[in-house]
Order: sequence, then C-alpha cells, then structure tokens
Amino acid sequence: MKVLVCNAGSSTLKLSLFEAEEERLLADGLIDWTAKPARLGLRRPGQAELRAELTVGQHADAISRILDELQTIAPIHAVGHRVVHGGDRYSAAARITPEVKRAIDELAELAPLHNPPSLGCITAFENALPGVPQVAAFDTAFHATLSAAARTYPVPRSWTRDLGIRRYGFHGLSHSYCAGRAAAMIGRTNVRLIIAHLGNGASVSAVREGVCVDTSMGFTPLEGLMMGTRSGSVDPGVLIYMLREKGLDGDRLDRALNHESGLLGVSGVSSDMRQVLAAAPDNPDARLAVDIYVHRIRQTIGAMAATLGGVDGLVFTAGVGENSAEIRERVCANLDFLGLALDRSANRERRPDADIAAPASKARILVIATREDLTIVRETRKLIGL
Ligand code: ADP
Repeated sequence: MKVLVCNAGSSTLKLSLFEAEEERLLADGLIDWTAKPARLGLRRPGQAELRAELTVGQHADAISRILDELQTIAPIHAVGHRVVHGGDRYSAAARITPEVKRAIDELAELAPLHNPPSLGCITAFENALPGVPQVAAFDTAFHATLSAAARTYPVPRSWTRDLGIRRYGFHGLSHSYCAGRAAAMIGRTNVRLIIAHLGNGASVSAVREGVCVDTSMGFTPLEGLMMGTRSGSVDPGVLIYMLREKGLDGDRLDRALNHESGLLGVSGVSSDMRQVLAAAPDNPDARLAVDIYVHRIRQTIGAMAATLGGVDGLVFTAGVGENSAEIRERVCANLDFLGLALDRSANRERRPDADIAAPASKARILVIATREDLTIVRETRKLIGL
C-alpha cells in the first residue's frame, strides 16, 4: 500500500510517498510558495532531483503537477495529512468526510496559519485523486488525554465553557512517535517519559504508559519553552501592561511575541541555535539567550517529573534536541536527583537513535530522530484498514 503524507505549512508544502507496510520512503517533494516563482522539487532515492519552477502559484495546479510525477512512481492508495488543530473534537486521527472538513475550517480561527493550507490541500487532492481516501492526523490529538486539572486555565468559567479556551498542546505527532520509539528502546511499555521536542518551535510532554498527561504548549503554540522567535510563557501582566500603558495593539503584540522574541529577541543574533551558540563566547546577549533556553527546559523537566511522580526516560528530539550535544549536556547537568545521569562521551559521539545515559543512570536519556511522517503513515493505515 502506498501512502502519501502531506504536510502543508504556511510557506511550504511537503509531500512524502511511502511504501506503508515497510515504512519505506519512495520519494519526497517540496513546493516552496515563498520563492518567486514558486518552486517544486522531487527526490527519489538513487535518482537525480527533479526541480521545476511553477508558472502558476496556485495550490491545485502545483499539487496536480507533483502528483503526476509521483503517480509515475506508484499508484497512491491513501493520503494522510498533518493538520495542526483538531480542537477538542478530535482525540485521534480521522478519515476525511465533509464533516471533518467543516471542523478543520471552523478551527481555522485557532490556527489561522496552518489549518487553511491543510484544508486547501485536502480539497485539491479530492479533485486530483478522486476516490482515494484521505486522513487527517491532528497535532493536538495526542494531548487529548490531559486531565481537567492539566488542561484547564484558572480563568473565568465562561472563557473555558463558551470560548474553548484551554490547553490543547501541539507537536503531538512527534511526541507520539517518540513515546512509542522510547518505549521500544527501553524495552517496556509501563514507562514514565519526559519528551523534549526542541526545534524552531519547542515543547515538552509527560507521557505515562503511552498516554500524554501533561504538555508545555497551551491554547496556542506560544506557551511554554523559549523558542527560535517565540517567547514561550511570560507573565500575562506584561501583555496587559504593553496593551494598556504602551499602546500596543493585538497585531503588534502578536508579532513581538511570536516573531521577535525567543532566541532571536534576546540574542539579537538569530533564531537559529547554531548561530546563537557560535556567538555566545563573545556576545553576552547570545550567552543570556542560551542560558534562558536551558533554564526553562530544566524547569519544565522538573515540572513534568512532578506530574509523573518520577521518570524512567528523558527524550531529546527535533533540530536542537537531535543535534546539539552542548544543549543536551547543559540541560542534564545535576539531574541525578531525578535518576538522570548523562554519559558525556556517549552524548558527544552517538548518533540518533541512541541511549546517552551513563550505564549506572537509573533512568535512560535517549536521543531520537523524530518521524512525524511515520505517525501519519501509521494512523492512515489504521483508519483505512489496509
Ligand atoms: P522545525 O521546528 O522548523 O521543524 P527543526 O526541528 O529542524 O525545526 O529545528 C531547527 C532548529 O534546530 C534550529 O534552531 C537549528 O539551529 C537547530 N539545529 C540544527 N542542527 C543543530 C546543531 N548541530 N546544533 C544546534 N542546533 C541545531
């Protein structure tokens, strides 16, 4: 069975064609809408990359162009979409129906940059591949298991009840993949895991026996850890002050906290951890940015350990988590009280997926290459029943 995985972002569309049973990648394509003219690329293992410029910038035309190419490799049996927001309606992936499409559309208010492109792709695929089943895998679904205490903000009841204001959590496809992979690496399912997904966006989740019990992102992907350009949690009083006393409006506040904060905002150097780390020895602002970044991850690990009542495995994943031995070492310093002891040379030398805990460490420390695409392939297979 061939499953096409579709990840529609605000500026790019990534498509990956899988031999689903073997979880083998056959080809992957990228459409970059921000390039002028829009650009399309297609890679197949062992073959030269195909590149084309798109004369038309519309989703449907570009998608049918890339689908024509992909169909020459193999007929597509099903399409699985990453959809960022499933609200509180979806606690698992769902087969696309008119009702599911309507829900994704209604939830666009909560994910204005992400749900609309996903919906555009779903419709384009319906036209380009009539009769081929499609599945939506939601980034929020893995966190649907949070208890009322973990998901509810202590705000007026009507906000929670009438406006849907609550913690949803994000990066669920990655946290879910890592939870399964970590349990397999540790060799049992009854494990308490803390998973640190550290990419441009960053979040930590707490998982007990495969079930998510807490997560650092909230109503939006702005809460929690410090990120590339996002502030993460700040005192809400700061926002009131900036709105009331400094005359900022909602759009300006949005830009400041989502795009001008985090590593970029504090360091003034970059949102890219590699560049901030490179600048840190000579630049006190870059050094402070890294210090805050590490401090907040450690704080959050402590909070998650308290939620779980202990920890059997700490997982590092995504760009920073998979690649930066320095950040991992600083995060793990003096965590012996949680049973987490790093093997410093394993941390520097081993490539993911790897256990980098000292042999005597009570809990494991794992570096896992995240595979959101495989979560989508698996969910799609499960729902289509192939
Ligand atoms: P996204 O959230 O967009 O999927 P990634 O998971 O690819 O992002 O993570 C991007 C981040 O990973 C960037 O901040 C980048 O600097 C960081 N990164 C990648 N490689 C390294 C490395 N070797 N050392 C430190 N940071 C790295």
